Amino acid sequence: MKDLSNNVVVHKNNNGFQYLQFKKLLEFSDTLVHAYSLGIDKNYRTSLNIKNNSPELYSKAIDNYKELCKNINCTYTNLVKPNQSHTNIVKLVKSKINNDKPDFNLDEYNLTDGLITNKSNLLLVTTNADCILLLFFDPVEKVVANVHSGWKGTIQRTSVETVQKMKKEYNCKPENIICCICPSIRKCHFEVEKDVQALFENEFKQELQKANRFNEIIERKTEQKWVIDTVEINKIILQNEGIKANNILDCGICSVCNCDLIHSYRVEKESYGLETALIGLK
Ligand SMILES: [Zn+2]
Repeated sequence: MKDLSNNVVVHKNNNGFQYLQFKKLLEFSDTLVHAYSLGIDKNYRTSLNIKNNSPELYSKAIDNYKELCKNINCTYTNLVKPNQSHTNIVKLVKSKINNDKPDFNLDEYNLTDGLITNKSNLLLVTTNADCILLLFFDPVEKVVANVHSGWKGTIQRTSVETVQKMKKEYNCKPENIICCICPSIRKCHFEVEKDVQALFENEFKQELQKANRFNEIIERKTEQKWVIDTVEINKIILQNEGIKANNILDCGICSVCNCDLIHSYRVEKESYGLETALIGLK
């Protein structure tokens, strides 16, 4: 894998099954489990649309989830996944809803892009193909969160919403919170036109100028094209919310640059597959 940062460990078992973990979260292995999937031969698409229209793809996703859970020694039926629709809505998970199968495609998690829990044996799951997934952990209050934030979620500050909810609901102190940023599309490939650029400029100009990084993070390439560093924007707004810079662990991996190993919507188009991130308390 290209551009591998020093923040992650890549595991590969005898059957070639691969996944990535953050070194910082592995320090808390007594307390939590986590992983980010790897491999474009795997696919974690479990939406209702897939379940109804592509039952083979759905059952492949279920098999892949079972294998991933087995690899990190956790229980597949404990998975809880929001339905992800590019909102900034983050919900608390207090218990499983289904007893004998994962909580996928439930009405309770419609219009939801992030989940938080302080309960054990719940595995919070999100999926991506280029969007940013962020894993949060407060080792003091023992709270975890898993958040999907593509460019639309970033504009809506979903990551900050998560931290605010962790503070309000679980008494978390931002200075204790660890945030790990999974593989996603990066500035090298996130090219946009004026319509999207204007949304980012409008939302973040003040903060980026204050950090003296506006032209670097929203960089004009040609008359009509810009590249935007949505990962850096999340880091800046999280730090402005009180998260410590050294508690933000970015894997630094671009899904497009590494599309031989990681699903990318920009590369795969309509037949795209999804990777998954999961985190839970033991
Ligand atoms: Zn790239």
